[in-house]
Amino acid sequence: MLRQEKLEEITDGRRYGINDMVRADAGGCKGCSKCCETMTNTIILSPLDVYRIERQTGKSFNELLDGHIELNMADGLILPNIKANKNGCNFLSEDKRCTIHSERPDFCRLFPLGRLYEDEGFSYILQVGQCDKALSKVKVKKWIDTPSLKEHDEFVLKWHGIIKKAGAKSAAAGDDERKKIVMGLLNEFYMTPYRDFYPEFFERANKYEMEIARWLLTE
Ligand code: SF4
Ligand code: SF4
Repeated sequence: MLRQEKLEEITDGRRYGINDMVRADAGGCKGCSKCCETMTNTIILSPLDVYRIERQTGKSFNELLDGHIELNMADGLILPNIKANKNGCNFLSEDKRCTIHSERPDFCRLFPLGRLYEDEGFSYILQVGQCDKALSKVKVKKWIDTPSLKEHDEFVLKWHGIIKKAGAKSAAAGDDERKKIVMGLLNEFYMTPYRDFYPEFFERANKYEMEIARWLLTE
């Protein structure tokens, strides 16, 4: 969790709920694509993000790795992120529009909002100094434009917990077990396709948590 002083430096200091109004609406970003051009490798993708992008592009995870996304170390794990080219995000068209807008990653849906995880839950925060436009007020729920919100939020919390737990276990494990934790996560949650995302994700999440416990017991 971010230190309180740090949080106050980068946000407006408030925590928002799903039904709160927040000054985050960039009005469709008309004439501006700065964020999409300067994102470098910062957009780490969750399994749900990858599932949505696969659906939108018709490409498999391995096909996406051949140009659109890449793997990097993050939080002691290997996780996919959107790959940037010299013009910015690989999903940005020549006329500077997002080619996967309806299935864009969670990070892009939220921006300039972010999530603050605390007390077994999360709230939304508004990052300041990120957008050059005069932002208008909008309801958080409308801004994040996320279908099946209840299931989605359960997924967000479960995934956050898995990353936290797997990252900590990986940092403390020996080489063999670290490899199982890191590669197991990649195989289980990203490389194996989903047909029906949410139920399959939760099934895999329970299986993976049991596997981590077993691997560490046999270390
Ligand atoms: S800087 Fe603001 S207006 Fe420009 S792309 Fe980012 S959010 Fe949109
Ligand atoms: S996925 Fe779309 S919204 Fe997100 S950075 Fe790329 S072009 Fe921008």
